[in-house]
Amino acid sequence: MLRSVEIIVAKHMGFCGGVKRAVEMARSTAESSAGSVYTWGPLIHNPQVVGKLQDAGVKVAGELEDLAGEAFVVSAYGVEHSVLDAAKAEGMRIVDATCPVVIRAHSLAFKLVEEGYQLVVVGDHGHPEMVTLKEALGDKVTIVHTREEAVLVKLRGRIAVMSQTTQSQENFRQIVGDLALRTKELRVVNTLCPAITVRQEEAEVMVEEVDALVVIGGHHSANTTRLAEIGRANELPTYHLEVPEELDPAWFAGVRKVGVMSGASTPEWIIAEVLRRLEEIGTQQRL
Ligand code: SF4
Repeated sequence: MLRSVEIIVAKHMGFCGGVKRAVEMARSTAESSAGSVYTWGPLIHNPQVVGKLQDAGVKVAGELEDLAGEAFVVSAYGVEHSVLDAAKAEGMRIVDATCPVVIRAHSLAFKLVEEGYQLVVVGDHGHPEMVTLKEALGDKVTIVHTREEAVLVKLRGRIAVMSQTTQSQENFRQIVGDLALRTKELRVVNTLCPAITVRQEEAEVMVEEVDALVVIGGHHSANTTRLAEIGRANELPTYHLEVPEELDPAWFAGVRKVGVMSGASTPEWIIAEVLRRLEEIGTQQRL
């Protein structure tokens, strides 16, 4: 008897509000500009969307010398001051697509430092959101990515801890727990983005219900990678892919239920293509 693989699609899929807004702002800036429009590096961590934006006239700058033209679009996670200053010096119009959730998190960080707290932020070194925060606060903030790094931080007096908006809840929870045992006073400010935590929570439930997990999103997308990590941490066969061509039918031999999730920078059209291809594969599986 031939039976289809059951495909369970997560409730929260596709662009989050901040990514949707940034992509729309970049696209409309290109439409309304006669000259060149640039972003600093890829606008979002999804090469297919960045490719479509390039087709629409949004160019990606990799060097300060590239910055010349009519407009500069700041990504959802912000941009370093040196880059912004270079764009302004070239007379470019600045279109600020920084996500309001990121702006709020940074404002809270400034406030905590003003209030005299030693600030620890759980985040990814090199992520634009952390680079801009470090640039603004210098030695007043310490960024840690792992528990091992957090243990090495010299704590003095009143400590505050917060998180990069797209961090793993579990990593944040563990580091907060470790810090709490080493301090007399610890102020915890939860700056995890709800659009990210809701997907991580959904992943934790889904891994209990399926035999395999497909996570769709850019290979360099941190929030997509974290969803895949949840699958692997639960010893579930987990496949992180950007496009449907990466799907291998052999992965699903004997699989009855496959869960499908996406990162916050994955467009609906790629999700639809992956689901179509999965359905084709599913109907060919002999169970
Ligand atoms: S994940 Fe959250 S913080 Fe990041 S762009 Fe989306 S809404 Fe903004």
